[in-house]
Amino acid sequence: MFNLILFGPPGAGKGTQSELLISNYSLVHLSTGDILRSEVAAKSELGIRAKELMDRGDLVPDEVVIGMIKSKLEANPDASGFIFDGFPRTAAQAEALDGLLTDLQTSITMMIALEVSEEELINRLLNRGKESGRSDDQDKSIILNRIEEYRLKTEPIKDHYAAQNKFHPVEGIGSIDDIFDRISAVIDPVI
Ligand code: AMP
Repeated sequence: MFNLILFGPPGAGKGTQSELLISNYSLVHLSTGDILRSEVAAKSELGIRAKELMDRGDLVPDEVVIGMIKSKLEANPDASGFIFDGFPRTAAQAEALDGLLTDLQTSITMMIALEVSEEELINRLLNRGKESGRSDDQDKSIILNRIEEYRLKTEPIKDHYAAQNKFHPVEGIGSIDDIFDRISAVIDPVI
């Protein structure tokens, strides 16, 4: 199996690049943000609880997102690999993911981190907010809180993958196709 963590702060382009990756490589896309937004839209009990946190730009509790990933892994027994987008976001989530993949007799192949300056992230998110209507993309203080959550809780987990020689930074500035080519250049020798 080929299991990729597409890593980076909010607005780095993980969702956009995931779409290109799933159409070019046969991988199953698992985005905890997308799953949570569909729970919010369905007004499920989980969605109602998560919405309050998401609207503030705070992280949803680890056990909630770990449970979501576990059921998606179980629902795709024939997958040739997964793209994890927006997960793991904490050390506890990274540990849980290792355990879930070990149970499936597989592991993370690599982490690709999209690197984008903070100024560019804020501009991209505010523009996305105008187009998508995502409320957490429309308010600069919520965007700054999400970036802060990333710096404090998420960014440190890259060390876990760097220690296993699985960490690959990729410049996330430029055209969508150029960024995709840079990602492919890292994946192709391994997949
Ligand atoms: P995203 O679409 O990845 O930017 O996620 C949108 C929001 O969903 C985040 O700001 C968090 O509130 C929540 N969220 C998504 N993924 C996770 C995760 N792995 N852990 C905790 N909260 C998450």
